[in-house]
Amino acid sequence: MLLSVIIPMYNEEEVIAQTYKRLKAILESMDNDYEMVFVNDGSRDGTMDIMRSTADQDKTVKIVDFARNFGHQVAVTAGMLYCSGDAAVIIDADLQDPPELIPEMLKKWEEGYQVVYGKRLKRDGESAFKLFTAKAFYKVINKLSGNMIPQDTGDFRLIDRAVIDIMNCMPEHNRFLRGMGSWVGFKQYAYEYHRDKRFAGTTKYPLKKMLKLAKDGIISFSNKPLEALTASGCAFGFAGCVWLLVLIILAICAVGFGSWQIILAGMLTLCGVLLIGMGVLGEYIGRIYDEAKGRPQFTVAALYNFDQNELGE
Ligand code: UDP
Ligand code: MG
Repeated sequence: MLLSVIIPMYNEEEVIAQTYKRLKAILESMDNDYEMVFVNDGSRDGTMDIMRSTADQDKTVKIVDFARNFGHQVAVTAGMLYCSGDAAVIIDADLQDPPELIPEMLKKWEEGYQVVYGKRLKRDGESAFKLFTAKAFYKVINKLSGNMIPQDTGDFRLIDRAVIDIMNCMPEHNRFLRGMGSWVGFKQYAYEYHRDKRFAGTTKYPLKKMLKLAKDGIISFSNKPLEALTASGCAFGFAGCVWLLVLIILAICAVGFGSWQIILAGMLTLCGVLLIGMGVLGEYIGRIYDEAKGRPQFTVAALYNFDQNELGE
């Protein structure tokens, strides 16, 4: 049995040597064959220098070196395309997900589960803001997607070759992998664990990237925002009719109707709703445009330690 470990990395020079060491130790202690597929997502620090010399000494280390930063979800996607294991573990480079859990996850795979996803029980060293927003996000997305994405899961998981092959055939851009991972179905197991603090360095997920991921999750798993547009259109249309009726009655009674401020307030509200509506449409149309262009998900500058057979050439 060959186990692949996929490690996306972006500017992780402070942790990557340690990550390799801990992964290597745990993989060596297991009976199966293994490969580590490091995906360098356009790091601009010394990450690649460290990993290149590691790959020179250790042929189980394979590197997919992106031509620029494409983002975490795309890096993991590339790892899934380039790995050749019967199963693969996806793990962050910053040691927040303990590599020591891999043998336990593999046991679950041997018991017949095709997806063993990490469910976070406790998160050390994450800000109250991140905890709150994460919780709120999962509430919202679960409401919208009909409980497609389990609460408190990340991308740390073990997936079977069957699932990898299916996900490799899902060419969508703006990917939300943990959602796609539950969408495929199969026997899934929630493996509960304590998420550690980042070993060193700072988060590579600033608020902007987090919001983009949240949007991708919602939009690629739900059309409810579009349906909400129709609903709000109906609500405002109804309110408008009632308002008109009131104005007519006031005019008939010769009371004179409300001041222009009221009309202005009404217009502003309506404009706001219309613009939000156009924004929501724009989000979906933008994604349709991304798909229509049909560009590759990423560009690769170099590959290390892959042989021709693995690349299917
Ligand atoms: N990462 C990546 N590309 C990016 C941002 C992050 O490959 O553009 C990697 C990063 O190196 C790490 C993982 O994605 O291995 C998770 O990132 P991070 O730990 O910074 O996110 P957080 O845990 O703070 O949400
Ligand atoms: Mg992290």
